[in-house]
Amino acid sequence: MKYLGIEPVRPKVAVFDFTGCEGCELQLANKEESLADFLRCIEVVNFREISSEARDDYAIAFIDGCISRDDEVERLKAIRERATVLVAMGSCACFGGVHRMKNDTDLAAANAEVYGDMPKATGPVRAVKEVVAVDLEIPGCPISKEELERVVQHVVLGIPFRFPVYPVCVDCKHRFTTCMFEHDQLCLGPITRAGCNAPCPTGGLGCWGCRGPAEDCNLDEFRRLAEERGFEQQEIDERLGFFGGFEGLR
Ligand code: SF4
Ligand code: SF4
Ligand code: SF4
Repeated sequence: MKYLGIEPVRPKVAVFDFTGCEGCELQLANKEESLADFLRCIEVVNFREISSEARDDYAIAFIDGCISRDDEVERLKAIRERATVLVAMGSCACFGGVHRMKNDTDLAAANAEVYGDMPKATGPVRAVKEVVAVDLEIPGCPISKEELERVVQHVVLGIPFRFPVYPVCVDCKHRFTTCMFEHDQLCLGPITRAGCNAPCPTGGLGCWGCRGPAEDCNLDEFRRLAEERGFEQQEIDERLGFFGGFEGLR
């Protein structure tokens, strides 16, 4: 589609899945109301979930999932070499996600328990940035399609994207939600990066921190306040460790 006789530049985009549920890339293919517009501003050249096309001439590579096997390391490095921009998409890719819990497990014993004498290749879970350089991270489990679309617009136009620096509580209050602490539920909203529009508290569930820490979050003060409201440090720790985003801060 030309504008003033000029063919617009549509960056070539690829999406690759590693260890994960593939829910984040499914978000890309979902949301039919904006899918046609979204696809008009990019050219998909490699995306197993939606196309049999499998080219290597992409400029932007979206990575879905964490890295948990040696062969994934090699594959990721090859993608990094080809891509101009590499985007980690979702909590698995950004932090290791729920899979990070595997790192506290005896992998050999678990392998034997589940697969018997046919063990599977497996190793400690790593976020994408622990293996290759990452240009952008879009957190969330799953990612927000609206946020992804905004990020792509910025990449296409060459304008830096700024994630919200404030915590989920701000999104939550915009939705006039009664605070989960008033319902005696633990909620990581005060220390978690906003941008999801607080679907969990709005739906009656405390935040589990899938988007990782808000900028300059005060974890010590959060622990003190949560304890004051009757929550044990062990429960707080379990929740902080759930998506891997607070690794290194706990
Ligand atoms: S971040 Fe969540 S939705 Fe996305 S691949 Fe990982 S587990 Fe699935
Ligand atoms: S429910 Fe959670 S996110 Fe919402 S205001 Fe309370 S602590 Fe913050
Ligand atoms: S409210 Fe918390 S757990 Fe729910 S989507 Fe937002 S950041 Fe993730």
